[in-house]
Amino acid sequence: MGESTTPPEIERDEIHTIDDDRFSPENVCIVTGAASGIGRAVTLVAAANGLTVVATDVDEDGLEGTADRAAELAVEGTVETVPADLRDDAAMDALVDAAAELGELRYLANVAGLQHVASIEAFPMERFDEIQDVMLRAPTYLAKRCLPHMREADGGCVGNMASVHGHYVTSDKVAYNVAKFGLRGLTQSIAAEGDGTVRSFSVSTGYVETPLVTNQIPDTAEQRGISEEAVVEDVMLGQARAKEMMAPVDVGNLFVIGFSRLARHLNGGDLLFDGGMTLTYD
Ligand code: NAD
Repeated sequence: MGESTTPPEIERDEIHTIDDDRFSPENVCIVTGAASGIGRAVTLVAAANGLTVVATDVDEDGLEGTADRAAELAVEGTVETVPADLRDDAAMDALVDAAAELGELRYLANVAGLQHVASIEAFPMERFDEIQDVMLRAPTYLAKRCLPHMREADGGCVGNMASVHGHYVTSDKVAYNVAKFGLRGLTQSIAAEGDGTVRSFSVSTGYVETPLVTNQIPDTAEQRGISEEAVVEDVMLGQARAKEMMAPVDVGNLFVIGFSRLARHLNGGDLLFDGGMTLTYD
């Protein structure tokens, strides 16, 4: 892989820290998808802000990599790894119970996701179901299980990783599009039922430099007969005004801002940080 296709490692000076009374080790944050990309970034930023982070993923090696990076960065909080498959309710029950044992369970970041590219006519329904299970049902189930803890702690927040595909869609990604639109509905439902005690927000970005994206660059370049740089500039950033992809740490910082007192009036809203992708055109 060329340099342009390697996801960036997160460095300490890129992490934004916020002065917030609740950002301390007795407060616990569950992060899904924590083995890779954006979930790893949310984990590292939350832990660097002093929280106890329960990092979960089905990829156990990746989770260890996240914990190792937290140790290298000497984060103020801690990272506990709890492997779980988000298609398994019993595993999610065990995850929430383990998190609640560690302190006040106040924060949940639903980040895990996957993609499948096929037309509606050709879309395999078992793959559609898997995507809904991981990207929509699991966030709902985890919210259902975490909300009582957040109410008991007298304050909490759920952050959901949506996408520009929760605002507009591209063809051949029906399951992903449906899940991301649904996630915004979940976000607003939590806000409606949170009574101001539990807040919720979503984050919508365009392309972020994670393995999910960078792994596609060489193949796309070959398929289209263009350079890897052209894939990034013309295909991925073609509709955005931004000149470079967002880094995972940028998204990690957004989640922690959303969890913080700075965002106390953010409730049900979406943080659309897409470099102008959905709201402008040439
Ligand atoms: P990634 O592939 O690097 O990470 C996704 C993680 O989800 C992986 O570690 C994977 O193991 C985990 N996961 C998948 N199925 C699981 C299951 N059944 N149980 C538990 N964990 C499971 O991807 P990423 O780019 O970091 O994406 C994270 C989220 O951000 C996704 O929801 C994605 O839709 C969203 N997003 C990504 C981008 C982007 O450009 N990278 C843009 C907008 C939104």
